[in-house]
Amino acid sequence: MNYTEKNPKLHINADYAEFMSKATKRIKCSKVRTLKFLDWCDDTHQSPFTPSTNANIAKCASWLQFRDYEKNGHKLTNARFCKKDKVCPACAMRRASKQVQKVYNELYSNPDLMTGYWYYIVLPVHHKASEDFSTVFNRLGGGLKKINQAIRDFKRGRDPHNFFTMFDGIMYSIEETKTENGWNIHANLLVRSDKPIRDLKQKKGGYWSPSMVETWKELTGSINVSINPINMKNEDSLMKNLMEVFKYSLKFQDLKNEDLLIAYRGTYRKRLLGAMGSLRALKTDVKLEGDDVVNDVFVESQFVWIRNKFVFRGHQKGRVGTSGHVFYEADSYDE
Ligand SMILES: [Zn+2]
Repeated sequence: MNYTEKNPKLHINADYAEFMSKATKRIKCSKVRTLKFLDWCDDTHQSPFTPSTNANIAKCASWLQFRDYEKNGHKLTNARFCKKDKVCPACAMRRASKQVQKVYNELYSNPDLMTGYWYYIVLPVHHKASEDFSTVFNRLGGGLKKINQAIRDFKRGRDPHNFFTMFDGIMYSIEETKTENGWNIHANLLVRSDKPIRDLKQKKGGYWSPSMVETWKELTGSINVSINPINMKNEDSLMKNLMEVFKYSLKFQDLKNEDLLIAYRGTYRKRLLGAMGSLRALKTDVKLEGDDVVNDVFVESQFVWIRNKFVFRGHQKGRVGTSGHVFYEADSYDE
């Protein structure tokens, strides 16, 4: 893409140009995927969306605004997101990356939470090819509900004899994929405890614990768990495990249209992300629009979606003040 023809006097650095090029390619893939799904829903007369929601999803990220900040680096600032994360990869990606950054910052600003033992745990539930989405989804949901209740009871001084009460806090996401063996629905957990898991046993790709398996079998009839300790002093390890928890929202992209519709209907108005105990203090609500940068100067670039591709519309210099108010170069910079 030629970035200089619209504004030849404005210098764009190569890193920023590459960042925009990669982001526009990724969003293009997302738009193509979403538009195919909407077309398929229309063609088969089973769209779950109202006409206005349908139009919003189709128009999602059809306008992109990037900024190259002097102190804060490159950002996708705005894109008129549709916020239908369960069918729109652009919105799912945006939410996941903002949530990872938010929780990461919250953890690092809370030294009390950072102490203790942390683990990343995957809890799948057994399933058969003949079982429908809701049956498998409810099996997992039921197990998570019982863990939540056990942690509450334990905090009130009762002992429900549930292995998971050794964790004072749990953050989890629910992920769904489909294979020839049916719906594979599992939970990704980030957990914290004052004490280590005593009976960790090694297996391919991680660890398991006989006592955790015993409880998970009692709760759901399933006998598979996978555990990985997290080194909280290693920022990369924490970031990698946070991404594992939050990338749940991107898995639907691999589903066939008919399965995506089943998963969308099956999870309608259901949250796929939750927290229990002390990790309820971590806030995962994020706004998809905006980049939260204040007090910096930038070069801003805009793109619009025309006939199935992004067209570059031009650059503009500006500054965002301490209050978040934006001034463009033609304006006065006084606040
Ligand atoms: Zn969207």
